[in-house]
Amino acid sequence: MVTEHASAPAANTAAQPDQSSLICYFQGGYVRLGEARIPLMTHAFLYGTAVFEGIRAYWNPEEKQLYGLRIKEHIVRLRNSSKIMLMADVPSVEEFTEIVKQVLRRNRFQEDAYCRPSVYKSTEAIGVKLHGLAHEFYVLAVPMGDYIDTEKGIPAGTVSWRRTSDTSIPSRSKITGSYVNPAFSKSEAMLNGFDEAIVLTADGHVSEGSAENLFMIRDGVLVTPQVSDDILEGITRAGIMEIAGYLRIPVRERQIDRSELYIADEVFLCGTGAQVSPVSSVDHRAVGDGRVGPISRQISKTYFDAVRGRLDAFRHWVTPIYTSE
Ligand code: PMP
Repeated sequence: MVTEHASAPAANTAAQPDQSSLICYFQGGYVRLGEARIPLMTHAFLYGTAVFEGIRAYWNPEEKQLYGLRIKEHIVRLRNSSKIMLMADVPSVEEFTEIVKQVLRRNRFQEDAYCRPSVYKSTEAIGVKLHGLAHEFYVLAVPMGDYIDTEKGIPAGTVSWRRTSDTSIPSRSKITGSYVNPAFSKSEAMLNGFDEAIVLTADGHVSEGSAENLFMIRDGVLVTPQVSDDILEGITRAGIMEIAGYLRIPVRERQIDRSELYIADEVFLCGTGAQVSPVSSVDHRAVGDGRVGPISRQISKTYFDAVRGRLDAFRHWVTPIYTSE
């Protein structure tokens, strides 16, 4: 029997709710999650040769509407990830979008949810390679609220692991096997008492969080690492830059040194899961005065209004799930 490391945070071992009756799309039809099974010899299981997306859907209680967030952008990225992994023959953006909507609809969610489409190498075979293998796709969805404290700010720490570089495993493709790299980083940070990891590139520049992009504010300018610093080209990151334009906050994409984070006025992480998550300290140095700064607060408020379809300027981000557009 395998036992957890004695000092692992208790929350990691907490029982998960039974999700086996949720509806997912698998092998060409809509089935219960508990019935969707893959054979042990599946290439994607043996070698991590799958790509995936995480899409959030937000419940708007006033409108009694579920909004899918940036579905098209996620599907475009999924198709790009697939192409990088030599899986070019995948459903069109329109076909994928319809399946994502159907899965959310069939689960009748009246709460925030998380949807995961994935394309995976389905051939049952031993042998490390990318070419000459069949692939299939699935789409699942589960209920999900905030899983990072979005109000208070979190302590973050740089970790000794480096972000996989584009010359080893491309970070711009969401490859399931490559997520062992952020997993090393996240666990090192958490077991050392931080809530989140800040991961550096091989040459020591700031790349991103374990599953979030990073922004800092210095002298009123919003700064984020450029796409060639081994980041995932985040959809929330792009959204934050759009919000910055709306709020007339100047933005720069450039390399960031680790010690710049120690003297930044504000730092926050962002991503589909993390949403906008302010950082209160980096490597035990308070960010600003350690409280959520005014620019992060303003961006965060705009973001949370936008994702529930409450801002006209950002209506193009959301797709209503329960009514036709
Ligand atoms: N970096 C990594 C490594 C991630 O896994 C994610 C989550 N998808 C992000 C950044 C944030 O990307 P997005 O805003 O597209 O969710």
